Amino acid sequence: MAPRNPECVLIHAPYGRDGAVIEKVLRGAGFTSQVCESIEAICSETYSGTGAVLIADEALRTSNVEQLSQFLKSQERWSDLPVIVLTRGGEATQSTRYRLRLLAPLGNVTLLERPLRTETVISAVETALRSRRRQYGMRDLLRSLRSANVELTATNKELEEFAYVASHDLQEPLRMIGIFTQKMIRELGDRADEETRASASFVDRGVRRMEALLRDLLAFSRVIHAESQPDQTANLGDALKDALSVLQNRVEETGATIAYNGLPEVLGNQFQFSHVFQNLVSNSLKYSKPGEPPRVVVSAQRDEKCWIVSVEDNGIGFEQEHAQRIFGLFKRLHRDEYPGTGVGLAICKRIVEKHGGTIWAESEPSRGSIFRFTVKGPHDI
Ligand code: ADP
Repeated sequence: MAPRNPECVLIHAPYGRDGAVIEKVLRGAGFTSQVCESIEAICSETYSGTGAVLIADEALRTSNVEQLSQFLKSQERWSDLPVIVLTRGGEATQSTRYRLRLLAPLGNVTLLERPLRTETVISAVETALRSRRRQYGMRDLLRSLRSANVELTATNKELEEFAYVASHDLQEPLRMIGIFTQKMIRELGDRADEETRASASFVDRGVRRMEALLRDLLAFSRVIHAESQPDQTANLGDALKDALSVLQNRVEETGATIAYNGLPEVLGNQFQFSHVFQNLVSNSLKYSKPGEPPRVVVSAQRDEKCWIVSVEDNGIGFEQEHAQRIFGLFKRLHRDEYPGTGVGLAICKRIVEKHGGTIWAESEPSRGSIFRFTVKGPHDI
């Protein structure tokens, strides 16, 4: 069957001559229209493209209005099909009032009172088709956005794949460079002059830095590839304890105190949350004020629909204007003074967002920092 003109007006006016007259008027004005015998026919015809629907109110009954309203509710999101209803003129009776009340849920409804004038019908149909044309424009825009999105997702996936393969495969040649540089330094021993030794140690430092970058980039790629399991429950208290056991040496070396209390069960992967805590707490230990042992407080508060988890420290802090930037890959504020690759917070952001949450930071130079993220509890929808 040939596709129907998307601006076709469907008419349902089964009593009297209204249907035929209106069709003739519309044809005369250059519109395409089609008479439908029932509301069912309107619903099924609408699937193949319709500009507007025109219905005589005496054809409306509770059951078929419900059917129409059900149908209109199931339209795609861009669609708000214009419905023109011909009402009886004069004093509103109880039954006309009742029918008009039934129409409320239909949405994009225009009432035309009879007796009808040709100009009124034409102008109402023109207005309806104009709004319908805009909806079609929106539909086309959505379609092209959707296909652009599919393309972007594919490209993004390829890039992620590339980051994984590159960081993984570069590790081995780099390891070789590291081993042979060390060997060269050893073999040269005292024979090497000052300049050669300086160059060798420069290469060695470069190799170590690159190893750290590749290791963290690989960790980042693994987070991207990890399946999200939204139905699992994770105990944040246990996740933090796991993180602290990994950081135990650093905690002891820095003389840090770490306080936490009442961390809840949440929806998600405990191992990944432990990774988040590991990154946040290790930053609190690293970016501490010289001569002042780090103090870290991890806590959780209930919000309306989720938990807000906070990691607060008494460290060097940073200007609030950088608070978003630091979650970007390789973004660092304290470049030379502190070791690091700028990947930790990007990993935290990915993990939190994979769990449907958001992460942000609040800070001021030399007044400590607070990193907060949201996460759903097992009973939050
Ligand atoms: P890294 O620590 O390896 O540089 P991150 O992604 O963990 O990378 O952090 C990015 C940057 O954010 C850091 O380089 C640092 O400048 C800043 N930052 C992160 N955590 C803190 C903190 N607790 N206090 C002060 N600055 C911080």
